[in-house]
Amino acid sequence: MFFGWRVQAPDQKAGFEFPKMLKDQHVIGVLALQGAFEAHRGVFRRLGVSSVLVRTANELEAVDALLLPGGESSAMLRLMEPQELFVRIRKRIDSGLPVLATCAGVILLAKKVTPHQQSLGALDVDIERNAYGRQVFSSVEALHFSPQYQGDNAGEAVFIRAPRVTRVGEGVETLAWRGDDPVLLRSPGILAATFHPELGKGTVIHELFLREIERQGR
Ligand code: GLN
Repeated sequence: MFFGWRVQAPDQKAGFEFPKMLKDQHVIGVLALQGAFEAHRGVFRRLGVSSVLVRTANELEAVDALLLPGGESSAMLRLMEPQELFVRIRKRIDSGLPVLATCAGVILLAKKVTPHQQSLGALDVDIERNAYGRQVFSSVEALHFSPQYQGDNAGEAVFIRAPRVTRVGEGVETLAWRGDDPVLLRSPGILAATFHPELGKGTVIHELFLREIERQGR
């Protein structure tokens, strides 16, 4: 089912292998306007995959996959304006750019945001910002995974002023829940986590994204 990925604990050196073919040809971009972008690069590094920072339209054109980090979605929207990154990212996603979105990144991707905020609409979910309360109510939670992804159980997930997914569209698969709330979702080419996988101990979510890239044959 998982295309031969070998998933091992990150401290085991001879662990995960991103197929050499993809490794050679693929540049993973990490949107670096604001927020928790640097830690994501660390996770990719632990998986033996390099990444580049994306701050400009030219840098966006040079990547084959994109990570939208957590942070403050309203601030990111403002910072996208000078380079017209909002429109450019939407165009790239429309033409198949694989995306891993975390927390604020999922807000940017959602179809509808409450309270209303501009969004890319690339993932058919509705989302409510700051739904679990303010920063002081940030928490580390155990997730439960759908049976198909049981082997990928990432253990505990870090939620920081996290959004809540209030509607999941038909073409969107839920991979994991926090209580009754969907928190890890996928649609073809897109993986979205409402928590901060880059702050946890594991690399599972980033590995799932690499699999998603492979699945899309990119
Ligand atoms: N509350 C933030 C927002 O609305 C998201 C928080 C996060 O990414 N940790 O953009």
